Amino acid sequence: MATLSLSAPAKINLFLDITGRRPDGYHTISGVMQSVSLCDTVTLTLSPAAEGEEPRRTLTCTNPDLPTDGKNLGLRAAEAFFAATGKGNAHLHIHIEKRIPAAAGMAGGSTDAAAVLKGLNELTGRPLTSEELCRIGLSLGADVPFCVTGGAQITEGVGEILTPCGPLPPCYLVIACAGEGVSTPAAYKKLDEMYENFDGTAYISKTDALVAQLGALKNCDLCGAGKYAYNIFEAAVLPTHSKAGNIKRTLVEVGAVFAMMSGSGPSVFGAFDDEKAARTAAELLQNQDIPAWVCEPIVK
Ligand code: ATP
Repeated sequence: MATLSLSAPAKINLFLDITGRRPDGYHTISGVMQSVSLCDTVTLTLSPAAEGEEPRRTLTCTNPDLPTDGKNLGLRAAEAFFAATGKGNAHLHIHIEKRIPAAAGMAGGSTDAAAVLKGLNELTGRPLTSEELCRIGLSLGADVPFCVTGGAQITEGVGEILTPCGPLPPCYLVIACAGEGVSTPAAYKKLDEMYENFDGTAYISKTDALVAQLGALKNCDLCGAGKYAYNIFEAAVLPTHSKAGNIKRTLVEVGAVFAMMSGSGPSVFGAFDDEKAARTAAELLQNQDIPAWVCEPIVK
């Protein structure tokens, strides 16, 4: 029997724009993703199945709201790994200690899937390269390849084209989630309605701002990174999710260098250059019954 525990970090989007819509309906994006130290812990226990014995796959999770059957991305990742490697003649138990808020735009499911892919690869003698893990990951979700790679990356295509870039300079991130769930497909649908399916001139991608932010990140300039921070989903989500908008305003009022919604929301992050101010901001939100965490960017 072999056991391995892995940290599965959440992500935030420092920049998130849509560049078009493919004929299959998937949106192409361009942006910057950053791993953060708020993380789940994924523990894998693998033991050989006896001859003729049906391999068992089980999963437990500390968040009772999440599925523990084949719908959990952790189990789906394990099946995809075993299908690709032929190493599935083993019992597997996955335990997820969940800290990342679910369905909040922080890639909580994708990062668990990535941790399972990486962990099983370690436990079975590394049969696959990182590129192959990313390819399997993409079949599970657009954010999985980023979660396999981590750090700070420019993300293009549907999320699978990754290029390392300068990370967010050392800072303290307050992440808060008001619990007004956002369905990612519904948020995309709203944007399609607002911008005529991204197939005409109704929306011009913010390429210059992305280039400017990448320059700021390269120069370790937190203010510059914040000045050009952008998330197209804010236009679709904030008008109907007033709590997320209020959190964003509060974070700036109490000293964040910048604050923005992450992914399709509703989680919001604020970047602080001062730890005390960040902790005070998190406490202020927690006192209003808003779950909030202080964490830091992960530099690879
Ligand atoms: P993204 O930022 O990649 O769009 P998200 O943060 O919006 O992701 P997730 O937390 O990944 O959303 O959850 C999306 C859905 O996936 C949830 O409805 C949840 O039921 C399902 N899910 C399946 N497995 C997991 C898992 N291990 N952790 C979290 N959610 C999971």
